[in-house]
Amino acid sequence: MKYIEPHAHMVSRVTDDYVKMTTAGCAAVCEPAFWAGFDRSSPDGFHDYFCQLTEHEPKRAAKFGLKHFSWLCINPKESEDVKLAEEVLALIPQFLDRPNVLGIGEIGLNKNSRNELKVLERHVDLAARHDQLILVHTPHLEDKLKGTRLILDVLKSDRRIKPGRVIIDHVEEHTVKLVLNTGMWAGMTLYPETKCTPARAIDILENFGRERLWLNSACDWGVSDPLAVPRTALEMKRRGHRARAIERVVYQNPMTFLSQCPKFKLTED
Ligand SMILES: [Zn+2]
Repeated sequence: MKYIEPHAHMVSRVTDDYVKMTTAGCAAVCEPAFWAGFDRSSPDGFHDYFCQLTEHEPKRAAKFGLKHFSWLCINPKESEDVKLAEEVLALIPQFLDRPNVLGIGEIGLNKNSRNELKVLERHVDLAARHDQLILVHTPHLEDKLKGTRLILDVLKSDRRIKPGRVIIDHVEEHTVKLVLNTGMWAGMTLYPETKCTPARAIDILENFGRERLWLNSACDWGVSDPLAVPRTALEMKRRGHRARAIERVVYQNPMTFLSQCPKFKLTED
């Protein structure tokens, strides 16, 4: 099976995960900048993290035959400190020309606070000024619907942002239609315990179609599964989905969205 993992936090994973992903047919992995499990104390911490995402992790992935791409931002969880966020935002432009950088992400909201919203708007402005794709994280559980509405309002109010160049990730049953109706893309995150299980994600695909939707594992330092995408593809097969329909969701759709960035090239194609 051929697939693209469009959202995985590989800096938190061991090399065995790279081996397993390549063996399962992964053609490329994309890594958004995110919260590392602890708050970084200075902009220098982010500078080093951006070097890790754009220099060191692509080399580690290449050792296992995997193309590695990344997205840059200060994540919503650390955006509560607006001064720190502004200093980190000022660092990002110098990294945008690096060969594996696809855009700005994963930006968004965590607790839907005023400061998070302010920093979200700054990121959207940065993406617009540098003509970057955008990847958005939506809040968890009870904050998700409100947070998704707030995020969509910010994106829709900026006339420079083309909806087809934005993906809203971690959608669930109650937010997927809201996102797709804007013309933006939607990502479903497959987690063993929270977010979408494979069965729920397939229910959503059966209800809302395969247009502008992708699947990702968002594997990180917590309870997560780097093989969640191929496992869900197998479950789709078991439920009677045709091979072409499965490939559309796990390979063609991410390829279509990500190829809007000319740097997204898979040499084996
Ligand atoms: Zn993530």
